[in-house]
Amino acid sequence: MKKISEILAQGTSLSVELWPPRSPEAQERLEEVLKELYPLHPTFTSITYGAGGSTRERTHDLVVRIAREGLITPMAHLVCAAHSRSELTDILVRYRDEGINNVLALMGDPPLNAVGPLKPGELVHAIELAELAKEVGDFCVAVAAHPEGHPLSASMESDRDYLARKLEVSDFAITQFFFNSDDYFRLVDDLVERGVDKPILPGIMPITKVRTVYKMAELSGAQVPPDLAERVEKVADNPDDVRKIGVEVAIDLARRLLAGGVPGLHFYTMNESVATIEIVNALSYAH
Ligand SMILES: Cc1cc2nc3c(=O)[nH]c(=O)nc-3n(C[C@H](O)[C@H](O)[C@H](O)COP(=O)(O)OP(=O)(O)OC[C@H]3O[C@@H](n4cnc5c(N)ncnc54)[C@H](O)[C@@H]3O)c2cc1C
Repeated sequence: MKKISEILAQGTSLSVELWPPRSPEAQERLEEVLKELYPLHPTFTSITYGAGGSTRERTHDLVVRIAREGLITPMAHLVCAAHSRSELTDILVRYRDEGINNVLALMGDPPLNAVGPLKPGELVHAIELAELAKEVGDFCVAVAAHPEGHPLSASMESDRDYLARKLEVSDFAITQFFFNSDDYFRLVDDLVERGVDKPILPGIMPITKVRTVYKMAELSGAQVPPDLAERVEKVADNPDDVRKIGVEVAIDLARRLLAGGVPGLHFYTMNESVATIEIVNALSYAH
């Protein structure tokens, strides 16, 4: 299977993030969403992993199935938080042996009650998982980047320093979602200052549900601009109106990003297709 780093070298990318379904109904819905997204010709799709490890088989099965269908290149998310080093190695070996060669290495946010003392040798930070993946196989390894800084960071400086180190051992990054293009371009400039120029794909999350976006912003450290919050709160009871505002805002953000020469756009679809399709159609950019 093609490595995503090779695909990114060929031109602007369009990628979509999906999560593995939890129930037969969600599975059915995902089949619809995939059918609706395929005509956009996404460059790749990335499949999330539960920080508690509960999606182990579901993430694996969806990644392998999409790879076998051959319509779109899948990338498997994997998190340190969920497993011991030897379990993570087993998961990577299994992917390698099945010809899956794109992995997104993450720390993961374990549930607080699951955090116990770490045994020596276990992985904590994403950089360690990125290194492990490179040891296990010829993987293209992506990592996460946080334009507004990771909420646990001691400072923006230290977050950028750790990210630069992480990117030295990996191939590209995908950012957490954000609403201000300046945050993205500042991140890229900070990395260039640190001698890193690997592709950084901006993550775009179209607002489709008011409560979800606040919850996700709180977890990720992203700021929802007050004027945007006010606009969506006014129409919070009308899902169509919320989506329309979310799409409009995302189109504006994506246009600024494309004009600034981003290597692609990564959509947090939340397993819904309508907003992503509306945005991509409005942009009609070559990918
Ligand atoms: C594109 C994307 C996809 C995601 N997909 C998932 C998913 O599928 N499943 C899931 O559970 N979560 C997912 N997340 C969330 C992610 O797990 C969290 O944001 C997590 O809190 C941080 O992950 P990271 O990989 O950036 O961590 P790290 O790179 O480990 O960084 C976490 C924090 O530690 C600091 N740090 C890094 N290295 C060191 C070091 N050596 N010493 C001290 N401090 C250090 C960093 O500055 C940062 O503050 C995703 C996030 C993004 C952006």
